[in-house]
Formats: sequence, C-alpha cells, structure tokens
Amino acid sequence: MNFDLIVVGSGPSGYVAALRAAQLGLKVACVEKEGTLGGTCLNVGCIPSKSLLESSERYEWLQKSASDHGIVIGQLDFDFKAMMKRKEKIVGGLIEGIVGLFKQAGIEHLRGKATFVSPNTLKITSNDEKKTISSAHIIIATGSEPIQLPFLPFDEKIVVSSTGALSLSEIPKRLVVIGGGVIGLELASVYRRLGSAVTVVEMLDRIAPTMDQALSKQLLQSLKKQGMEFLLGAKVKSGKKIGNGMTIAVEQEGKAISIDADVVLVAVGRRPYTQGLGLESVGVALAPNGLIVVNGNFQTSLSHIYAIGDVIDGPMLAHKASHEGVAVAEIISGISAKVNYASIPSVIYTHPEVASVGFSEQEAIALGLEVAVGTSFFRGNGRARCSGETEGFVKVVAEKKTRKLLGLHIIGSHASELIQEGVLAIDKQATLDDIIHSCHAHPTLSETVMEACQQAK
Ligand SMILES: Cc1cc2nc3c(=O)[nH]c(=O)nc-3n(C[C@H](O)[C@H](O)[C@H](O)COP(=O)(O)OP(=O)(O)OC[C@H]3O[C@@H](n4cnc5c(N)ncnc54)[C@H](O)[C@@H]3O)c2cc1C
Repeated sequence: MNFDLIVVGSGPSGYVAALRAAQLGLKVACVEKEGTLGGTCLNVGCIPSKSLLESSERYEWLQKSASDHGIVIGQLDFDFKAMMKRKEKIVGGLIEGIVGLFKQAGIEHLRGKATFVSPNTLKITSNDEKKTISSAHIIIATGSEPIQLPFLPFDEKIVVSSTGALSLSEIPKRLVVIGGGVIGLELASVYRRLGSAVTVVEMLDRIAPTMDQALSKQLLQSLKKQGMEFLLGAKVKSGKKIGNGMTIAVEQEGKAISIDADVVLVAVGRRPYTQGLGLESVGVALAPNGLIVVNGNFQTSLSHIYAIGDVIDGPMLAHKASHEGVAVAEIISGISAKVNYASIPSVIYTHPEVASVGFSEQEAIALGLEVAVGTSFFRGNGRARCSGETEGFVKVVAEKKTRKLLGLHIIGSHASELIQEGVLAIDKQATLDDIIHSCHAHPTLSETVMEACQQAK
C-alpha cells in the first residue's frame, strides 16, 4: 500500500496532523498500536483525569461549600464505580468522534505497531497480520511513557503510574504520590477528595516547579489547607512491599523518614517513546535524552521523516502536540507554518486551578529584562464573591519599557479558561494597555486580569 503520508501514532499530535493533511488533499494512513485511537491524552491522560477531577470536585463542593449557598443536602455519598464508568463513557464517546472524523476524511486507520524497514517503508505488526506500507512522507507521533524509578517498578496495583492511578478499583486509604508536578498534584487531588490520606513527596523545595514562584507558594498553601501533606526537598530512597501495601523510605535534610502506603503513585515525569520503531536502522537521530531531533520544520535527520508531540523537545502537552500536528501537515503540503512556543499555556487542574503562559517573573529577570509586575486578587472580584471562589490571584508580568505582556499567571477558579486572554495577548504581542482598554464584561472573573494589568508597575 502506498500513501502520500503515514502518521505513526494517533495521539493529539498524530490524529490532528492526519486530519489536517487529509483536509489539504493528501492520501493519509494513521498507524496505532493500541486498540483505540486518541493516544495518551484521550485514553489515559488529559480526558480521564479531568473527568475524575470534575466528579471529585463536585462531590467535595457539595460536602464543603453547598451549605454556604443555603443548599441543604441530606446524607451525601458517592459511587466510585459509577464515577469510573462515567469516565470511560466520556473517553469512549470522544474516541468514537475521532473514528468518525477519520472516516469522513478518508484516512486509513491501520492497527498495529509500526517499525521502519527502510526510510520510506514501515512494517505494521498486529496480532493477526503483518503488512508493509510505503509513503513519500512519514510523521513520527509516538508520544511518551511514564518514567519508572528503578527500585519501584510499576505493578499497576500497589506501585502505579498515572495509567494505573486512573483505573484503581478502590480508593486507597493511604496514597503516597512521588512527584509534585502537574500529574502528581491532579491525581493526588482526586483521591484526597474521595477520602485518601495523601502525602506528596517532592525532591525540589517547591511543588509545580515550572510555574511562577508566587503560584507554587499559593498552591502549596491551598492544598495543605485541604488536608494534603507534603514532604519537600525529600528524596525517595527505596520501597518495601509489606502485606497489601508498601513502606517508602524517604530522606529529607539528612533525616530518614518512612511512610506507609496502600498505593504509591510514581509521577516523576515522562520520557519520549520510540521503542520498536527501528529508528537506528534508518538513521533518524536521537538526542541523548531520547527525544527525536528536529529542525524548525519538524524534519528529522532524514528530511522526509518528521516528528511532533511528546517525542520531540518542548512541554509535554496535548495542545502543543496538536499545534505541531497542524503545522507539520501544512509544511508537508507546501504551506509555510510555525508554532509560537512563547504563547503555549500550561494548566494544573487542581482546586484552585493554576494556569500560566509566557515568562514567570523569575525567568524574565534572569533574562535581564526590566519588568513591571501587577497582581489582583479574586477576593476583590464581584463574580468570585458570588460563586464563593475567592481564593487566588492574577499576576501579570510585562516589559517595563514597552509594556508588552511577557507572562500571565493565574491561580483561582476557572484559571484554565481565563489564561486564554494572556495567550492571545502574548501571541499578538499586545501591551498591558491593549488589555486595559479592552472592555471586560461585568461581573466576570476576567476583570481580575484587567485589574492586574492596571496594577502593573
Ligand atoms: C495523567 C495525564 C494527564 C494529562 N493531562 C494533560 C492535560 O490536562 N493537558 C495537556 O495538555 N496534556 C496533558 N497530558 C499530556 C498529554 O497527554 C500528552 O502531552 C499528549 O498525549 C502527547 O500527544 P502525542 O500525540 O505526542 O503522544 P501520545 O498521546 O502519547 O500518542 C502517541 C501514540 O502513538 C502510539 N504509538 C507509539 N509507538 C507506536 C508504533 N511504533 N506504532 C504505532 N503506534 C505507536 C501510542 O500507542 C500512542 O497512542 C497528560 C498526560 C497524562 C499522563
């Protein structure tokens, strides 16, 4: 079989690239080794985690905040199995959506694992058959996998990766989360809300270390108030299975601490996944950290083989991956396209949510920029008061001389939606005054973004 383009991997980078290429008139095949389309994001990442975050947050809101609104509830309980079922239904529905889009666009969905046999040819191996397909252009969109700690291998029952944590059969009484980054904090939140005693162990001295320091600090305070425990600047040294659980040995400031857990979630990061692709046989170059090396047009060391998404450099985020998918399909079709990496937002869907785009204050200063910083608190916002979501603030970072927006950092309710104003502003190189002079509806949380810009000095 011959195609204009073969995409290996159907995650948010691969399926989006396949769709855009088909829209531009190319004959496209997409190869996926798993039983369903959608990759990590849809099957074991963004979507199932957000479904459980939403369900558990609503449960906690009913428990802790409904009475503030004068809502009287009798005995409250939850059905964990039903929560999981709902999650699976949402995932299934979205997968069906991609299947439909592929059919509509005439994209050939090939099931099986792809391996290069020559620079233009791939062997597709599945349980029942083997076939060979060729193409002028190939996109590698094979994503990433969770990193294991050598002394704590995943068994997906007691020592779980994020994948295992999204499918537990019961709520662990004691959950230890190793890693205070996005995935660790989100899943820690789900189980803490559903009754687990949660301890987060983080090697660095702060959680959410990629965010502006002010946000990390506020998030730590908020999560502690909710009952989560933290061991910061702490290194996990070993783990020993005891009965149906585990004892984790931790070292913090030279002190040995041991913690008992029913489940240990290892969330220490992800690494690029290229296993079994046979890249070495065709000469596609990898960086020492396993990422595929690409140029500004996403071309690997072989110019007709491209790579996008988690398998190349940059934040491991679904929207970054999809953006690259659109750009690479356009480039292959002869359209000049770029991704503006300066305006890629990142979000932590805890409560409060944390969202950020552009430079943190610390990054801007480290770059030698003279900055103006403005902060506005949700407690002063009418809409936040009405909803009872007064925790958090908006922090804006701008270049002092030009007043151009460098970064927007939000911790608070709906931060994931509010951040888009900063994304657009940074993408279009807007200034503080552009935001200040854009009329913001009242009463909305977005007024806090405008007010933070007004405060900037
Ligand atoms: C728990 C969790 C929560 C997350 N939440 C968010 C979030 O809220 N927002 C966000 O932006 N990001 C989130 N992410 C990250 C996001 O899922 C990834 O950045 C995104 O999925 C990367 O997309 P991708 O297309 O590069 O790779 P993937 O989604 O990993 O897809 C790669 C696909 O390639 C297939 N594949 C690999 N090798 C082969 C082969 N040889 N042959 C055939 N097929 C192959 C794999 O089976 C897989 O389906 C989350 C991740 C996790 C784990």
